[in-house]
Amino acid sequence: MNPPPDAPSPRPRVTLVGAGPGDPELLTLKAIRAIRAATVLLVDDLVGREVLRYARRHARIVDVGKRGGCRSTPQDFIERLMATEALKGERVVRLKGGDPGVFGRGGEEVEHLRTHGIEVEVINGITSGLAAATGLGVPLTHRDHAHGVILVTGHPRAGSTPLDWRRLATTAADGYTLVIYMGVAQAAQIQAGLLEGLPPDTPVAVVQHASLPQQRHAVAPLADLQAMLQREGLGSPAVIIVGNVLRGLQAVQPAARLSAAAA
Ligand code: SAH
Repeated sequence: MNPPPDAPSPRPRVTLVGAGPGDPELLTLKAIRAIRAATVLLVDDLVGREVLRYARRHARIVDVGKRGGCRSTPQDFIERLMATEALKGERVVRLKGGDPGVFGRGGEEVEHLRTHGIEVEVINGITSGLAAATGLGVPLTHRDHAHGVILVTGHPRAGSTPLDWRRLATTAADGYTLVIYMGVAQAAQIQAGLLEGLPPDTPVAVVQHASLPQQRHAVAPLADLQAMLQREGLGSPAVIIVGNVLRGLQAVQPAARLSAAAA
């Protein structure tokens, strides 16, 4: 049982909260409870602003977004700030887009806090890849088409092993759906790599701003991915979904575009 929001916190503690893909109605009850109890919130830039309406009026809200190349808050600053505030007795909530455990550096943050003797609770959020699939009306593991699903980053950490798209394509060809996060900027390279192991007519969907009113998506054969992105002007934040589970979508033809309303 969690303590009631106003009970004194016996030990320094930080709660990592998955804020989901943007639609505040996709927050969990646990997330809302944690946000309401927070006195300090550190907020990623992919967190929908409406989610903050659950924060206390006098809560300190710190924007720590760090999207590729724009505003940037170094990760170690974020980790230090969380620890300092928690040790001061603040009720710290770290609000992260989607789920904290999916490409969100949640793991690093948990480790840092625990080494400082700070208790950490993690509250799941709906990851954007799942919301994107739902936005398309596509089940990621429809059993006619897929044994499973692979969540993969299109933007591996500098210095880590580069992604072997050809190998992933070969795996996907055996019946796995690929859900690619942070892949839009690398789409040309991803397309070329995947074409080494997947047929050119493999359906691909790009979903931008999943779950939000401005959600947009487009569907094309793999061979047309990069051209479709340019034509449609789709950019970050977006998820790329690859695989035959998309065959259920009528619109799998060159650059067929579906409006959110039509989905
Ligand atoms: N923890 C997050 C992922 C963080 S990485 C999650 O579970 O969703 C950031 C990437 O997530 C973005 O580059 C994009 O690929 C994806 N993303 C986040 N929010 C999104 C949204 N509303 N619609 C589409 N993609 C989104």
